[in-house]
Amino acid sequence: MKADKWKKKLSPEKYHILREKGTEAPFFGKYVMFNKEGKYMCAACGNELFPSDTKFNSLCGWPSFYEAKKGAVKLKEDDSHGMRRTEVLCKKCGSHLGHVFDDGPKPTGKRFCINSLALDFKENAKGKK
Ligand code: FE
Repeated sequence: MKADKWKKKLSPEKYHILREKGTEAPFFGKYVMFNKEGKYMCAACGNELFPSDTKFNSLCGWPSFYEAKKGAVKLKEDDSHGMRRTEVLCKKCGSHLGHVFDDGPKPTGKRFCINSLALDFKENAKGKK
């Protein structure tokens, strides 16, 4: 999708994160202190990214997950801002989601550090996993 179409579809804040690789301010994101059961999806295209049972409290200021749904994201080396990091992108639409680090908990040791603004959440129906 072209930039002008994304601009129409997304709020300016979401556009900045998802399409311009922005980063939201830490600790104030909608899903930082949020522990409902359900699934997190790409805020740009609806692709399912993270089940809520992979979310953990990392204290880093952004929603953190130890594992993405299989085939949902792609990873890319990112040398911007004088750091070597691994960028996390939605595999379906190519939008920027956040970064992944190697200091996460078991079983993967990964910390997917994702902007709240890059996510939508769908709560599980009561009594269902
Ligand atoms: Fe997407």
